[in-house]
Amino acid sequence: MVELTFLGTGTSNGVPIIGCACEVCRSDDPRDTRSRSSAVVRVDGRTLLIDTATELRHQALAAGLDRIDGVLMTHAHADHTGGFDDLRRFNELQQEWISVYCNERTAEMLRERYAYTFTEQYPFFGGKPDLRLVEVENPFVVSGIEITPIPLMHGRLPILGFRVGDLAYLTDAKTIPDESWPLLDGVDTLVVNALRERAHPTHFNFDEAIATVQRIRPRQAFLTHMSHETSHQQIIALLPEGISPAFDGLTIRSAAE
Ligand SMILES: [Zn+2]
Ligand SMILES: [Zn+2]
Ligand SMILES: [Zn+2]
Repeated sequence: MVELTFLGTGTSNGVPIIGCACEVCRSDDPRDTRSRSSAVVRVDGRTLLIDTATELRHQALAAGLDRIDGVLMTHAHADHTGGFDDLRRFNELQQEWISVYCNERTAEMLRERYAYTFTEQYPFFGGKPDLRLVEVENPFVVSGIEITPIPLMHGRLPILGFRVGDLAYLTDAKTIPDESWPLLDGVDTLVVNALRERAHPTHFNFDEAIATVQRIRPRQAFLTHMSHETSHQQIIALLPEGISPAFDGLTIRSAAE
């Protein structure tokens, strides 16, 4: 069984948005508060973090995160990497290097933006993030857990989704390349990005997310990376059975033993 907790389920501005007085931004429903998208995956006693969202510190505290066996980076956009420096607390707790798995383009962008984290180790673990960047194209193993990178296109930017066992997490996708579909065969639990009802040049809208779910045919599917344009309750009303909007703090489990 693979367990995933959504740390954040919002698009790049988060919800509520600074200076917005719309109905969703003023909602009393806690599920309408969406921090930047990130998730933690627990399998066989291991803990994998997907992305280091801007609110990582708050998210880690809320989820009771005290160890990270590896970081899976979908891409290097600011909303997915803004909490990068908070990884140093895990170096301090664990007294070891932590590996970050990503594609070549993401590695390039991380080295440029967070250059100080890739210099020599500070005299002790915890002074800065002490990370090893691992560029991946094919299935790889982290602490005994096999992970399959799923190449996706975020507009014109090549990014990665990740499959762990029978659970797949795809965010910031606009198109799924032909060669990636077979990697999603037999997925039981699918997470997919869905920005809003209107189309967007680099993100799935609700209809595109639904079409993706209907092609993969998982037992259950959850939407993430949502904007302030639609409330949790309104999104539920737009979706067929088997697809639900996620919310910050939701934990889901896949079927396999
Ligand atoms: Zn994003
Ligand atoms: Zn708003
Ligand atoms: Zn992005």
